[in-house]
Amino acid sequence: MNYTSYDVAVMNYPLFDKREDVSQAAEKFFKAPPVEKRAEVPLYIHVPFCTSLCDFCIYHRNLASQPERIEAYVDALLREIEMYAGEPYTCQLPIGSVFIGGGTPTVLTRDQLIRILDRLHQSFNLKGCDITVECHTQNANLEKLIALREHGVTRVSTGIQTLQHKARRDLHMAGSPDALIQWLAMAKSIGFSGVSADLMYGLPGVSQEEFLQDLDQAIKLQLSHLSVYKTAVFAYTKLYREQQKSMSPPAALNETEMRETFYQAHDKLMTHGYELISAQEYGREKGLIRFWDLTYDGYGDNLSFGPSSFGYINGYCYQNESELDSYVKKLQGRVLPVSRISRRITSKQLMERAMVMGFRRGAVSLFRFADTFGYDLKQIFSEVIHRHIKQGYVTAVGDQLILTRKGLYEQGKVSVDYMQSIFQGISNLKRKLCIGSHEMP
Ligand code: SF4
Repeated sequence: MNYTSYDVAVMNYPLFDKREDVSQAAEKFFKAPPVEKRAEVPLYIHVPFCTSLCDFCIYHRNLASQPERIEAYVDALLREIEMYAGEPYTCQLPIGSVFIGGGTPTVLTRDQLIRILDRLHQSFNLKGCDITVECHTQNANLEKLIALREHGVTRVSTGIQTLQHKARRDLHMAGSPDALIQWLAMAKSIGFSGVSADLMYGLPGVSQEEFLQDLDQAIKLQLSHLSVYKTAVFAYTKLYREQQKSMSPPAALNETEMRETFYQAHDKLMTHGYELISAQEYGREKGLIRFWDLTYDGYGDNLSFGPSSFGYINGYCYQNESELDSYVKKLQGRVLPVSRISRRITSKQLMERAMVMGFRRGAVSLFRFADTFGYDLKQIFSEVIHRHIKQGYVTAVGDQLILTRKGLYEQGKVSVDYMQSIFQGISNLKRKLCIGSHEMP
């Protein structure tokens, strides 16, 4: 496996710009005239702790070995929520969906989780909002799950990734396959409106057949949602370092097998009553969780709290401090913990953002684009749309441009082609470097 696609890296648009002054973040977010308004906004919280660290993981996380650091994080997070909620611009945003992820939120104690949920309810209007918490089977016990349910959580999710014993052990994934299945049954019995799981294809040591067996087993559990992620090995992961060192790394799927595995998984999910709810997520019921729909909407704000999280407010993309101590220190000084920021979005980039993000949820609406911007998107992006249709990535259905199966597999590439105002005339390699670092050339 290697850098085969942009899938993971297209997180936001426009890209960050080192020349922008992050100390002015609050001024930029809250004092500039509003760029746009829309009905609902997603809110994400990143919990950067896990009890053990899986070799392939690309997310920002720390070992949950020091309770005092976790407590300092919770205090800082509560202050971050309070600071945003204290601003007229953000306190009025109608929150449509909340996702508490990471890392593993359930490494927090029951009381810490309740404090966070209570602070969210006190700070924003969450009426009618779906709230998801990512769980780990080793620490999301019955008592915590009941507390989550009682405090308004509507859906819980866990990362299965693989049910293959050997691969789990080799990749340092905590929890046995049996414990995962039992945990999912327990979570379903509590009365959440959704229980879901993630699976990864292309993990080293897991064949195509084994992955598809795992998927069959997950389908049998009748979960409300299943996410299917392609394994991408990034240079900062332990897996990458191990692969560089090893004379005989475990077998991994090649690009053709990866593509074929995704196609088979997609078809299987479709024939078992799942619908596509974003380019990587499948649900039995549309609308049960709207987090991806709102996050990849591309037409408005994304609130994001916690270390390393990515957000978008009033025309600025931002990322928070990744390093825990820097994040905590800034908040102790009542400073927004922003480490990177984009330039303010231009009117051309607003249209590009609608496409870049829109294809992350699998489709863009021609009507909505025309209604918002007053232009026909087929004319604005005529060259790239024709090319994508010819290449078999995109098809036109009614009012929408929809990713085909091939387009879903290559969604990152499709999205990048709409970043025209910053990428025109630069090489593919340079594009990849910019996307990898999320920064302007
Ligand atoms: S439990 Fe999840 S977030 Fe934590 S290291 Fe493993 S894959 Fe990453």
